[in-house]
Amino acid sequence: MNKRDSEIILSMLADGGFVAVQREEDADLVLFNTCCVREHAEERVYNRMQQLAKLKIQRPALILAVGGCMAQKEGTNILDRLPHVDLVFGTGALYEVPELVNRVITHGGPVVSVDAGVRPMRSQAEFDMRESAIRAWVSIAEGCDNRCAYCVVPMVRGAERSKPPGLILDEVSRASEKGHAEIFLLGQNVNSYGHDLAGAPDFPGLLELVNDVPGVKRIRFTTSHPKDMSTRLVEALRDLPRVCEHLHLPLQSGSSRILNVMNRGYSREDYLRKIERLRSAVPNIGLTTDIIVGFPGETDEDFEQTRSALAEIRFDTAYIFKFSPRPGTPAETLRAGMPENVIVHRHKTLLDMQKEISREKARQLVGTQQKVLVAARCEKALGYVIGRTRGYRVVRVRSDEAQVGDEVETVVTEARGWTLYGTPAAAVRYASPSVDPVHAKAESE
Ligand code: SAH
Ligand code: SF4
Repeated sequence: MNKRDSEIILSMLADGGFVAVQREEDADLVLFNTCCVREHAEERVYNRMQQLAKLKIQRPALILAVGGCMAQKEGTNILDRLPHVDLVFGTGALYEVPELVNRVITHGGPVVSVDAGVRPMRSQAEFDMRESAIRAWVSIAEGCDNRCAYCVVPMVRGAERSKPPGLILDEVSRASEKGHAEIFLLGQNVNSYGHDLAGAPDFPGLLELVNDVPGVKRIRFTTSHPKDMSTRLVEALRDLPRVCEHLHLPLQSGSSRILNVMNRGYSREDYLRKIERLRSAVPNIGLTTDIIVGFPGETDEDFEQTRSALAEIRFDTAYIFKFSPRPGTPAETLRAGMPENVIVHRHKTLLDMQKEISREKARQLVGTQQKVLVAARCEKALGYVIGRTRGYRVVRVRSDEAQVGDEVETVVTEARGWTLYGTPAAAVRYASPSVDPVHAKAESE
């Protein structure tokens, strides 16, 4: 979501005559669009901004701006720790950024805009400075109506507001006309999309509409809340040709007791049942998840439940976070004084286990044929392009011919760690049994 907001800021500033530069030293404006989901993200912003203070001493005209979730949450407090910052703007002030920057230019700083409340719901189709040539992030809903006990997002992004399908389809059409073949739909909980709109369109219905937009090759989405995952969503994953076989389904904890304290609205058994249904409908589905370790009161037994859930489900990837107490959330007051070394140990245990599972799952794909959507030429491996399978695996494909945006039928030939390597299927088909022409060509060169 923040990445898309950053693209919007870049687009607006470009319209206002700004030109993006590669190095901070060359910039007249350095703007950080921030996250506050975990404390670590905030500390990084403070550290980086403190470093930039040195640049501002050399060049007092340099404008430093902090925007987004952390700015929304902290408001003027940011200036206490970062007095050299010229502009602080919250998530609600997104569309005002060019005007706020101009105010700093004409009247000087600091300018603070964090009281705007939620931003107006409007089309974002025109903001087409996108980070990726092939992927387009498209926000379908803002805010969140859930109250997971650890989470600060509803406090900084407000209540859930769905974007009308017409606005979404306009943006998807425009992105696809500009060559973005992969549409990535964004919402804090895409599964509750539409309940606040006239006629209550639902998310699987939206997927059907996006599936029919000419030029779209792939559709992905995040995040899907397990409690609201419907049979219709499973059917959409199974039946809609452009919807990729990948689901990010945050589990958070394998212990029903902790899930209950987290206020997640499902039990371990509910989650396992949903995974089972999903896998029987879409056997090759790529599955990823989020896990929090060290949630207040997490006992050895609770942790063991999470460990065994990961072992049982075998996700392709799991993002494993240490619990970070966030001001104003219910979990902040639950601080149970769990020793840091226990959290560190649990975190490492899960990371090590997941690493092994991810590697094994990568190895299982060797010998299979996968469609890889080429995202770029590979910088680390000469003669390769890099892209993802429909199941969201990264593959390096040995090819001089494949272009960004091509969907290459690829035979996976090797797994190094969890990175897959492959050869275009056409090359394999025409090879004699012992000679791979692509390798032979590279070797003879
Ligand atoms: N709306 C999305 C997630 C938003 S935050 C969802 O419900 O899945 C992304 C992830 O950050 C969450 O899934 C959770 O695993 C993690 N997270 C959120 N708050 C956290 C906190 N206080 N401490 C540690 N991890 C947290
Ligand atoms: Fe946070 Fe829960 Fe909403 Fe996700 S669903 S944004 S974790 S409150």
